[in-house]
Order: sequence, then C-alpha cells, then structure tokens
Amino acid sequence: MAITPLMPVYPRSPVRPVRGEGVYLYGEQGEKYLDFAAGIAVNLLGHGHPVLTRAIQDQAATLIHVSNLYGSPQGEAFAKRLTDLTFADTVFFTNSGVEAVECAIKTARRYHHVKGNPHKHTLITFSNAFHGRTMATISATDQAKMIDGFAPLLPGFKVVAFDNLEAALAAVDENTAGFLVEPVQGEGGIRPASKEFIAGLRKACDDNDLLLVFDEVQCGVARTGYLYAYEYYGVTPDIMASAKGIGGGFPMGACLATEKAAAGMVIGTHGSTYGGNPLAMAAGQAVFDVVANDEFLSHVRKMGERLRSALEQMIPNHDHLFESVRGLGLMLGVKMKTDSRAFVNYLRTKGILTVAAGDNVIRVLPPLNIEEGHIAEFVEGLSSAAAEYDVPEAA
Ligand SMILES: *Cc1c(COP(=O)(O)O)cnc(C)c1O
Repeated sequence: MAITPLMPVYPRSPVRPVRGEGVYLYGEQGEKYLDFAAGIAVNLLGHGHPVLTRAIQDQAATLIHVSNLYGSPQGEAFAKRLTDLTFADTVFFTNSGVEAVECAIKTARRYHHVKGNPHKHTLITFSNAFHGRTMATISATDQAKMIDGFAPLLPGFKVVAFDNLEAALAAVDENTAGFLVEPVQGEGGIRPASKEFIAGLRKACDDNDLLLVFDEVQCGVARTGYLYAYEYYGVTPDIMASAKGIGGGFPMGACLATEKAAAGMVIGTHGSTYGGNPLAMAAGQAVFDVVANDEFLSHVRKMGERLRSALEQMIPNHDHLFESVRGLGLMLGVKMKTDSRAFVNYLRTKGILTVAAGDNVIRVLPPLNIEEGHIAEFVEGLSSAAAEYDVPEAA
C-alpha cells in the first residue's frame, strides 16, 4: 500500500504552515512566508485577526451548532445584513463555494419549473470557468483536467467562449435557463469580463426571461474593492454564489437570490445539515463588520492600484518572464511568458506565497488589510526571485 492517508489529489508543496500572524505564515521549522495567496482568496483579514478570532471563540463557547429544524436568530440576522447590502432578497447558507453554486443552479432550474417551463433547464457557461468540483459544477466547465474520467457528466450545461457576447447570445435556444458566469474568472487566469459582455448578458436575460447567475465565490466579498464585483459592472444578477472570503477562513458560503428568481425554492426543495449554523454566522458577521464599509473598500482599491502599478513598473526589468498585469482590486494576475506553476513553486522557496492559475498566470491574492510595506516587500521579493530564476527547459 503506497497511497497516503491524505488522498493524494493535491500536488502538495513543501510549505507546511502551522501558525499565522497577519500577512505571514510560519512553517514547522519556523520558516516565514509572506502570504499573498491568502488561502486562495479566503483569509481576507490575514491570519489571527482579533475581530474574527474573538467572534469565533465567543460563539464556540455559546452555541456551535443546532439544526435547520429550529429557528435561527443568527442566520436571520446575517441573511438580513446580506440582503440589505446587496441586490438579493433571500439567502441560503452553505459550507463551501461549490455548494453555493449548486444551490444557484438548482434555484435557476426551479424558477423555470414552477413557471411551467421545465424544458428551460440549460445554463450557458463559459470556457475555462471554475465553479467547483461536484458533478454539476464540473459539467459546467470545459477544463479537461477537471472532467477527465468522471463521465457521464450532467446534462444541462452548454459551454461557450468567455467574454464573447455574440457566442453567448448565439447559444440561447428554447432550453436555455440562463447564464452562469464568473464576472472575473479566478482559477481560469484572473480574467475580468468586459462591461459590455456582462451588460449584454443582462439584457438577453431581461428580453428572454432568463436568469443571470454570477459565481462570485472568488471575486466577491470586497476582493475587487467592491463588496461584490457586480457593483463594478453596474449590473445586478438574479442569483449569486458567494463563499471563499465570506467566513475569513471559516468554511461557509451563501447563495443569494432575488425574490423572483427564488420563486421555486419552497419548503423541502433544498437543505444542508451544517449550513448557516451559529458558528458560521458569527464568522461571517465578523468579516462583514470589518470589510463592509466604504473606508475598508476604498483601502482595498487603493492597495490594489499601488500593487498593480508596482508590478507594472517591475515587469520591464524582467520582460523575459513577465508579460502583463490584469485583474481588479486585490484580485490580480501576472501573466507569464513561461510556466507559472513552476515559478510559483520557486517563489515558495523564497518565502513568498502566490497561487498559479490557468493561462500561465500567477494569482496575487493578498489579505485585504495589507499595507504599503507589504506591497513593497512582495514586489522586491518577486523581482529578486525573477532575477535569479532559471527558466526550466520546456518539457
Ligand atoms: C473556489 C471556487 C469555487 C468552489 O469553491 P469551494 O469552496 O472550493 O467549493 C467555485 N467557484 C469559484 C469561482 C471559485 O473560485
């Protein structure tokens, strides 16, 4: 038996964090890392933030979990906060991003079902999308590495080119339920959709009674400098999945919807044992206490601009490696001219954590409460690593 006790589905790096403090992680031997990965856009407040830590500690001592069989003052309060702050009228809480997307897909199908149009079941999705790893969500992408060996996929998804309005509109037929899209693709390579594309999808939905479903699992919760990225686009979805940063590291997600879009989600249609339990709600409230205000959001936009311009200034010094910077707020990607995965691994040996993404992009996803000093430290570290880096021979 050679299989590891931890199912070996991840290429785990030699970084083995055991403690975190602010923007830094510490390994088993005390090695220090500058964490510009933030648990893949999760640790919005960095590590050990006192507001989040205290909220979780206090709630753990008070009441961790009951059941959705009972009334939930904690869930009602956080749902009210989310609906007050967003386009949505109602919220279903989940334990992860993929469950939030799954709920969004079910909500879209039920909308057409209760309207007497059960044939309108197919969501148009986009190439290089990432919506999670369940059967439904891998069926919603065209990325071979996620699909291979898992056939048969679920019907009800049609993948077309991302950010191509013509292709999206051409795919609409009598079976279309709506569009499922990441306004800013994350895993696919930090690609913000154009405003014209998103506005065009909204119009097609309005004209044809289709649902616009946003997957803001990665780009939501202040990451782009807006509480949700749809505000940047000036377009509201009908249904939206949120997760990653929403609990600041506590596993939780949320599916938000308008009253109209959620028309089919009546008693008995959906559920979750843990979803929205008091401990999760305390974590979500603590994150929102810190991030859901203009001052914090403008800090994110300001740091995002500083980081972007520092990266843009650095690129010409290493133009054999780097091509360009893209993204929104503190959801940035550095497009490389070489394998970004190998370079991300190399950066780890230099004490800098980032995340590789599709299209040879390095994802730069720091905690949102970073200061200018962290940006300087990151860009200097990146630049000196780039200067020393030997590009591996193409395989
Ligand atoms: C991470 C991610 C998911 C899946 O979230 P999990 O918590 O891993 O299930 C879905 N959609 C997007 C856009 C993501 O970035």
